[in-house]
Amino acid sequence: MKLLSVNAGSSSLKFQMYEMPEEKVLISGVFERIGLNDSLYTIKINGEKIKKQANLKNHKDAVRILIEELLTNNIIKSLDEIKGIGHRVVHGGDKYSSSIIINEDVIKTIEDLSTLAPLHNPANLMGILAFKEQVPNAIAVAVFDTAFHQTMPRESYLYALPYEWYTHYGVRRYGFHGISHDYLTQTLKEVLKNDKPNLITCHLGNGGSISAIKEGLCYDTSLGFSPNAGLVMGTRCGDIDSAIIPYIMNKADMSLEDVMSDLSKKSGYLGISGISSDSRDIEDGIKNGNDRCILAQHLFIKRAIEYIAKYYVLLGNVDAICFAGGIGENSIETRMAILKGLKCLGIKLDEQANNVRGEFKLISTKDSKVPCYVVPTDEEVMIARDTYKLIGQ
Ligand code: ADP
Repeated sequence: MKLLSVNAGSSSLKFQMYEMPEEKVLISGVFERIGLNDSLYTIKINGEKIKKQANLKNHKDAVRILIEELLTNNIIKSLDEIKGIGHRVVHGGDKYSSSIIINEDVIKTIEDLSTLAPLHNPANLMGILAFKEQVPNAIAVAVFDTAFHQTMPRESYLYALPYEWYTHYGVRRYGFHGISHDYLTQTLKEVLKNDKPNLITCHLGNGGSISAIKEGLCYDTSLGFSPNAGLVMGTRCGDIDSAIIPYIMNKADMSLEDVMSDLSKKSGYLGISGISSDSRDIEDGIKNGNDRCILAQHLFIKRAIEYIAKYYVLLGNVDAICFAGGIGENSIETRMAILKGLKCLGIKLDEQANNVRGEFKLISTKDSKVPCYVVPTDEEVMIARDTYKLIGQ
């Protein structure tokens, strides 16, 4: 059965087509700069990458070209071969604790939840509607980035704020990157041959989050009400003292919008280093002795250690820790610094094994109290799996 896995952003649309249940990728690609000048798309078939210019006024144009490519490359002979389309949707609020077949009600709810994810849900919806119009016979499924975290207990998801803020306005921790944390959990369940493991899953990319998994279910996670909480990220500050916001508005004569924008676009690695949001540039800066890059990395590492240590204590015992995302999978130095900082928990890094990028690997020693792994994440396949499960054979 052929299924599409789709991730629509405000100016981009990523896709992969799978043959299921084999999970074989038939074609993948990304449309970029949708609605902007110089829009383009890249497709990958049989390991070959092809880049093309195209006038992409909106998501519908991207979907139209995607269908043309599927047909001309003989991936499908007719549109009816596409049985299902799984869409990544960032915010499912506390309404969805698992993936769901999209109908008019679901569309309305995703739209209503845009108040909680104004940058993401409207973009996800554009993708859903563009496919609905052009591939009407495929069953569409919404796979939420928040769903995996819905098993958190109240003491994890509530903030110590007036309770009515939660009951009236939905102010609570939702968590994000759930599709990735779910993938990491499922993978480690298989690796450990344990259906109910306690885990600490670290998704460290441009955005980052760490989750505590208790008996196979999400118990806590570092992202919160918004995707700017917890860890130090590429351009996001993560946890800060809320009093900084009115203080800096006053002192620097800034609007609330400008302050909020700086907290998510000019902070993190970029804010501290003053150079870049990209961990590779930070690593280069450190090699050249740049003090601000050294400091940015220290902040990043310290915050990650704090979260892992806190979750370790909350979980009581931990069956495995894993690293994923662009930094987690590729930055040897970052993994090393984090795990060395956890030495007092009996965690022992195998430096030679850690010398790895982008592949599954056990990176702790045999006598480490907790085994630590690199697990390349795969959000696309999770979307395809859920879609396959929901639409049946
Ligand atoms: P996003 O959250 O945008 O999906 P990614 O998971 O792609 O982000 O992660 C991007 C981050 O991964 C960047 O900081 C980038 O520098 C880092 N990264 C990618 N490859 C490497 C590498 N080889 N070494 C160190 N960091 C890397």
